[in-house]
Amino acid sequence: MDPVGVAAAAPDAGPGPAWQSKCPWGAPNTTSMSCSLADVMSEQLAKELQLEEENAAFPEVVAVAEGPFITGENIDTSSDLMLAQMLQMEFDREYDAQLRHEEKKINGDSKVSISFENYRKVHPYDSDSSEDEVDWQDTRHDPYRADKPTTTPRKGFIGKGKDITTKHDEVVCGRKNTARMENFAPEFQVGDGIGMDLKLSNQVFNALKQHAYSEERRSARLHEKKEHSTAEKAVDPKTRLLLYKMVNAGMLETITGCISTGKESVVFHAYGGKSATEDKVIPPECAIKVFKTTLNEFKNRDKYIKDDYRFKDRFSKLNPRKIIRMWAEKEMHNLTRMQNAGIPCPQVVILKKHVLVMSFIGQDQVPAPKLKDVTLSSEDMKKAYYQILNMMQQLYKECNLVHADLSEYNMLWHDGKVWLIDVSQSVEPTHPHGLEFLFRDCRNVSQFFQKGGVAEALNERELFNAVSGLNIAADNEVDFQAEIEALEKMNEDHVQNHGKKLSMFSSDGDPPIYDE
Ligand code: ADP
Ligand code: MN
Repeated sequence: MDPVGVAAAAPDAGPGPAWQSKCPWGAPNTTSMSCSLADVMSEQLAKELQLEEENAAFPEVVAVAEGPFITGENIDTSSDLMLAQMLQMEFDREYDAQLRHEEKKINGDSKVSISFENYRKVHPYDSDSSEDEVDWQDTRHDPYRADKPTTTPRKGFIGKGKDITTKHDEVVCGRKNTARMENFAPEFQVGDGIGMDLKLSNQVFNALKQHAYSEERRSARLHEKKEHSTAEKAVDPKTRLLLYKMVNAGMLETITGCISTGKESVVFHAYGGKSATEDKVIPPECAIKVFKTTLNEFKNRDKYIKDDYRFKDRFSKLNPRKIIRMWAEKEMHNLTRMQNAGIPCPQVVILKKHVLVMSFIGQDQVPAPKLKDVTLSSEDMKKAYYQILNMMQQLYKECNLVHADLSEYNMLWHDGKVWLIDVSQSVEPTHPHGLEFLFRDCRNVSQFFQKGGVAEALNERELFNAVSGLNIAADNEVDFQAEIEALEKMNEDHVQNHGKKLSMFSSDGDPPIYDE
């Protein structure tokens, strides 16, 4: 591509003088055309010519931005606009280099580093984004930019007689343009040009405006991208700081890497530290569950927590960020209840905001396999089944909980037994949908073990009755579910009318093992 060469070459210019080809700054425009005096005097024609020339030269802006800088070849520098852009670009690069230098100097090899990235002038082009091209195309439709230069003003003049000044007067226009630079985004460096008596031509002004606009958008896009990608890995700066603090406090030794990235959480592995302040012994290996602070995924989980009386008073007053912390808190409380009942599950180490540290189920950074991923002997399969039946009963009766997401995805096989994980959504059986959740859990469990060849496995209705102690007699799923819903409704009505639950739910009268 050689748009500039083409644009600058005068149609009838012969081979230039010898210095022209050697001069690194290129050739001055030596265009000469024969035309009438009227043409020469026509301001409009002059403007049109200039526009044409500069428009043709304009694509070079892209080449300048991406390609090698001043090479002395094929780059014509007769356009002031282009020269200015090149020099600005060079200045920006030097500025950024200096910034990087200072950044390095300040950070040294400290664990916590600060970044000057937001102060950089040249925004890195993200290589995996094809939007750059789009960006370029878009700038052609710069909303700030007038579609076509107006050529015939309606009443575009001031003054009288020979002092008449049209709004196209270059000086007036230039000054106005300079003043309008103030309207650019605050980050856009316009230097001290505004204070000077600069007269920017429309073309230069428009190009600057276009540049300011696309820079602003590029910057915004980079920012958004950064936010987005960190949200995906759940290590936004705040989370990172939390994790750093845990390492610095000696609670964790090192955070080795990510075990799992789910829709709602990211789980990391870490080696436990030797924290002196905590009275708890920190397990040698830890799992760090970071609840995602992107809110979308949690919206559909409202039903779990909204109706959970433990969180009822707080729910309505909370902002979404706090609701996410509540999920983490809920997981912690539920794990603690399970721990107290002796159910194999991760042991809580610490909860900080939306970050829950617990013991790691697995060894040497390798997490224990999920039940769905492990091939068990039929003997182990049977053993696992009875263990789960037992755990579900304990969970219901001793912990006063329903897992509510129980399946082969949330059970790990470790040390020859099943471990339950992922209990942030677990609810008490009296939750308005608690029994429905339990029935779903039962369906998952009995289907898994029936398919897995455990002949003794109860069907979902039998399992439900065995876990809950309720005696729902319906022998088909539809009726069974209807009875479950009727029970839930009865309980809700009872709570409404008497302010307490039905007795069938509090048979043993044990207080919840909830307050640690
Ligand atoms: P999610 O809500 O994303 O399903 P989980 O609590 O189920 O969150 O964790 C996701 C995955 O991370 C699990 O399937 C398991 O492989 C791993 N994991 C979670 N907690 C632990 C732990 N304490 N020890 C070992 N691995 C874990
Ligand atoms: Mn899970």
